[in-house]
Parts: sequence; structure tokens; C-alpha cells
Amino acid sequence: MQDTLSNRISTLRGALNGKVIGADDPRYDDVRRVFFTGFDRRPAAVVRVTDAADIARVVGLARETGAELAVRSGGHSRAGHGTSEGGIVIDLSAMNAVEIDPDNRTAWAQTGVTAGGYTAQTSVHGLTTGLGDTASVGLGGITLGGGIGYLVRQTGLTIDDVLAAEVVTADGELLRADEQSHPDLFWALRGGGGNFGVVTRLKLRLHAIDRVIGGMLLLPARPGVITGLVAAADAADEGLSLIANVLKAPPLPFIPAEQHGRPMVMIQMVYAGDAEAGARAIAPIRALATPLADMVRPIRYPEMYAGAEGPAPAYAAGTNMLVDELSTEAAETILAHLETATAAIAAVQVRVLGGAMARVADDATAFGHRRARLMVNIAAMDPRAETGPEHEAWAAELATALADGAAERAYLGFVGDEGQDGVRRAYPPATLERLARAKRRYDPDNLFHLNLNVVPDAAR
Ligand SMILES: Cc1cc2nc3c(=O)[nH]c(=O)nc-3n(C[C@H](O)[C@H](O)[C@H](O)COP(=O)(O)OP(=O)(O)OC[C@H]3O[C@@H](n4cnc5c(N)ncnc54)[C@H](O)[C@@H]3O)c2cc1C
Repeated sequence: MQDTLSNRISTLRGALNGKVIGADDPRYDDVRRVFFTGFDRRPAAVVRVTDAADIARVVGLARETGAELAVRSGGHSRAGHGTSEGGIVIDLSAMNAVEIDPDNRTAWAQTGVTAGGYTAQTSVHGLTTGLGDTASVGLGGITLGGGIGYLVRQTGLTIDDVLAAEVVTADGELLRADEQSHPDLFWALRGGGGNFGVVTRLKLRLHAIDRVIGGMLLLPARPGVITGLVAAADAADEGLSLIANVLKAPPLPFIPAEQHGRPMVMIQMVYAGDAEAGARAIAPIRALATPLADMVRPIRYPEMYAGAEGPAPAYAAGTNMLVDELSTEAAETILAHLETATAAIAAVQVRVLGGAMARVADDATAFGHRRARLMVNIAAMDPRAETGPEHEAWAAELATALADGAAERAYLGFVGDEGQDGVRRAYPPATLERLARAKRRYDPDNLFHLNLNVVPDAAR
């Protein structure tokens, strides 16, 4: 197979508009790298595609040779799904164009654009679509998993703004999926991850959100502050969405030196709406404790993505769970467990959900856990990849303690390499059944399996 594969890859070179980058290419080490550098895999080739025809050719090659196929947009998969040992990687990073129709408030975006790149372009028109908290995450991966970000309570999940998608399926065909055309595929793409083909472009709704109240607030982490924060964010109007990380204060210049190493809550928030209403919504959070730093102020929305990202860790152990409450005991458990972490950065992230996300029916898209009130995301990151098992054990212990042994629901985007257990947590049974039927129709041989894999339903 290897011989055929390298011959076929050589033939591919002349046939594509994009670039085929193999191990003999000086760019190879650069292009094979993904965000979590611990996934140090050596694909037979990374193909930097430029259009749907390129993608169809690579998909055909993988289908015919049996080579493992990885599909990568921004490369942030926590399970390393954006690369392969010995297989072929479709790298979409050169497909990053965004065509904006300001009058109709829509954009057609190629999926290789990053969240930061997309937002920078749409914000020129004072428009945006809610994505995640990190500029370098790819539009492809975040959207197909659901998309929970700074506007989740105001405008919903990213998938709630997807109006249409163009997809190269396993047989190499380019399909348009929307409410009229291939509605089963359109449903499955909105939450079903990379199971159904390579999404080349997405048509997204844009919102007139530009001036917001936003930025970072640091509070000392005490159980009452954590539970009070959840209660205040839950009670606030839907203009407010926040992402709170409970962690030991890193030695950053804006954190008072005497606080370094002490537990704190780092809250990133956005209030989209009237400034006075924003101040009212945020006041109960500011009042929870004397802030260690308060950088929440009127800004333009894209500033939430400003500033350099730190060096990516080699490895992120962890998991997440969707829950309905966070008790004082749970907050105490989080703080006690953080004391025992040995990872370079250990954090428990809490996102308060609800609002627009919860108003969509559970069966309207493949994201079936709409009514969960909170996401708790446990992460232990380290530059030393070999420490992974130790940190996985730490994260699993905390997850078990928090969920009382029953972490039944999870958000696909932050599920690591959890196999079918992760799949069962990400999808309610009825959603999973419907996804398996769509998988059978669009990818019956499971060509696209480097993902949180939905196994094709063989019975239908
Ligand atoms: C630092 C960091 C911050 C994050 N913050 C958030 C956040 O705020 N909100 C949130 O919701 N999630 C967040 N995530 C999770 C993130 O959305 C997922 O990891 C997502 O899958 C990453 O997308 P990507 O394109 O960058 O990754 P990739 O590794 O490129 O893709 C992940 C998987 O998605 C599929 N895929 C990607 N592009 C395509 C495509 N065009 N067609 C078909 N399949 C495709 C493939 O199966 C691929 O294996 C974060 C992750 C990290 C590491």
C-alpha cells in the first residue's frame, strides 16, 4: 500500500492547484505541526488545498489507497485529529477567504480561516458571528462542533448562524447543504463534527455587534466567589456571556506580584448591548470580591481577540461536562484539586450558557444538549508531552468528583481522545441515531474517521 501511496502522491503533485508537501520538502516540519505539538506525527503528505477540486482529488486518493485521512482547519483538536502517522492531511489553511454581504448581513467563509481572521474581516462592517475565545482556532473545527463563545447567550451557538454549507463528501462530490438541499446533511453538519465530509465554505449570518463592554476581570478564587459568579451570570440579561477560568495566578505583569500562585478566577466577558445595561449586568460580578485587576471597558468586539497568544502547550489533558449547577461543595473540590495539579497550567473553566443557545430545540441541529446551564471544562496543559498520563489521571479524578461519577453530557469541541464514550456523552441517543443514519448515507465506509467518530448505521 505504501508504494502505491507514494506513487499516487507523486501523481497528485501535477494535478492540484494547491501544494503537496512530503517529508523531503523543507516546509514539511512546519506544515505537519498542529496546535498541541505533542501530536508529533509524520504524515505521508500534507496537502495544502486551494479549492474543492483539490479536495475531491485528495479524498479520492485516500478512498482508493486506504490511506488514513486527516482534515485540518485550524489544527486545535485536543485529540490530535488534524494529523496522521503515515496518512494524508488535507490542510485548509490556504482556503481562508471571506466574502461579506453587508446589506444582507451574511458571509461566505472558507473553513480554513481562523476565528480571529474571520472576525477581523467582518468587523470592518461592524458585523460579526459568535465564535470561540481564541483567535487561532479554525472556523471549520469550531463550527462543526457547535461553537460556544463570547456571544453564546446573545446570538446562540455558531451553528445557529450557519445558513448553508458546501461539502466534499466521501465519494468526491461537492454538495450544497441547507434547509432545502440535503437537509439531513445540513442538520448533521451543525454539531456532528468532521464526520460527513470536508466542508469547504460556510454561509454565516452576521450580527450588528461592534461596540461592546468587554475584557478581563480577575477575582480572588473562593468558593463563594465561584458560585456567586455563576448565579450572577445566570441572572444577568442575555447580552452578557462569560468564560471564567479558575486557576493559580500566573506571573503576568497585570496581576499583583503577591497574588502570583494564588487561586484566582480569570473572567473574560462580553456585554453586547446598551452600555448602561451592560454596567448593570456586570455590577453584581464586580461586587463579588475586590478585583485583582479590572480591564472590562467599552471596546470594539474584535479586540477580544487582540494580543499575542502564548506558546501552545505540547499537551492538554482534560475533559468537559455539561451540567446544570455548581454547588459550594463542587467549588471547594475544584479549589482543593487545583492545589494537587502538577501540570504547568491547570485550570477549570466555567461557562454559563442559556439565553439564545437554549431557545433552539434539541433536535433542530445535531447539538442536542441545548438546555445545559453550564459547561465545566477541566484542562491540564504542559510543555512536556510525556507527562500526559499523569495529568489525564488528575483531570479524570476531578471530573469524577464533580460529576458524582456521572458526567453524562459533554461538549464535542472540548472532548479529547475519549472514543465512543466521548461520542455517547456528546450526543443524546436520538441525536446519535440520526447522525449514524446520515453517516451511512454520506460516508458509509467511514473514510472520515479521525474525529469524534459516528459509526455508520449498518442496519438501515
Ligand atoms: C486554545 C483553544 C481554545 C478553544 N476555545 C474554544 C471556544 O472558545 N469555544 C469552542 O466552542 N471551542 C473552543 N475550542 C475547541 C475547538 O473549537 C475545537 O478543538 C475545534 O475542533 C478546533 O477546530 P480547528 O479547526 O482549529 O481544529 P482542527 O484540528 O483543524 O479540526 C478539528 C477537527 O474538526 C474537523 N474539521 C475541521 N475543519 C473541517 C472542515 N473544514 N471540514 C470537515 N471537518 C473539519 C476534523 O474532524 C478535525 O479533526 C478551543 C480549543 C483550543 C485548543
